[in-house]
Amino acid sequence: MTRQMILASTLDELRSARLLLDGKLGFVPTMGYLHEGHLSLARRARTECDSVAASIFVNPTQFGPNEDLSKYPRDLDRDLHLLEEVGVDLVWTPTPEIMYPPGFQTWVEVQEMTRSLEGAMRPGHFRGVTTVVAKLFNAVQPQKAYFGQKDAQQAAVIRQMVRDLNFPIEIIVCPTVREPDGLAMSSRNVYLDPDQRKAATVLFRALSAAKAEYEKGERDAEKLRGKMKEVIAREPLAQMQYVSCADYDTLQELDKVTGKTLLSMAVFIGKTRLIDNFVLEAPPVTS
Ligand code: AMP
Repeated sequence: MTRQMILASTLDELRSARLLLDGKLGFVPTMGYLHEGHLSLARRARTECDSVAASIFVNPTQFGPNEDLSKYPRDLDRDLHLLEEVGVDLVWTPTPEIMYPPGFQTWVEVQEMTRSLEGAMRPGHFRGVTTVVAKLFNAVQPQKAYFGQKDAQQAAVIRQMVRDLNFPIEIIVCPTVREPDGLAMSSRNVYLDPDQRKAATVLFRALSAAKAEYEKGERDAEKLRGKMKEVIAREPLAQMQYVSCADYDTLQELDKVTGKTLLSMAVFIGKTRLIDNFVLEAPPVTS
């Protein structure tokens, strides 16, 4: 028998609904405008947990002053329909006033790991992310929470926060879901016009080229960064913001690739800022 999906908006509604959910609860936080990437997290939660909750909240505190908060795409009816199809039990759609009432003044900040990559380009972004995720975790009280590898630094930062603040929650990081031509699915892809959409495959192409070099034996991190830059430079509609070849756990830039490694980048296609990454697994130890 399928249960009716419960919708909650206020904190009281969420808490009452939470009491109705039995067993192990899996939680999928999102900003809505859902695509297969989000739904893959919900499906995974469905297979691993007794109950599944999702949130839809475009979190204002993780957007910079010149970012796309006001035009961030939204379609709540469609999102709810998709979550219902996956078998989600509870969807929480708080308002900014519920999450940040007047007088709000408590922030959660992960320090070291947020200084590089996205954190360097988007000051304050991760403070907004960790604060809202901590609030969502406290309200929803899941046993497991699902995040996408697409936002690799975000997943690493959340894992760190959960360790540091003793949240009794297991963080599950799920693979990046891609379009057939390799473009990582993102709510922001809707901003791309047809030419830009073609050009946007440059992130996947650049990551693939660097990975191919790695697989041929290249271990010089600067050469791998150089390969990614070279591919991006050949795409006229693309403007690179950064490329990185960093240690997977610490996110520190590498000189030599020796262990598990994150290749990542941010690229502007017109005004749309896209990110993507590949993980290079640690090479086998040879004796
Ligand atoms: P967002 O709505 O962009 O905040 O994303 C909500 C969650 O979905 C985050 O954990 C993202 O990492 C994850 N996500 C977004 N895009 C993808 C994708 N293409 N594949 C897998 N997970 C994704």
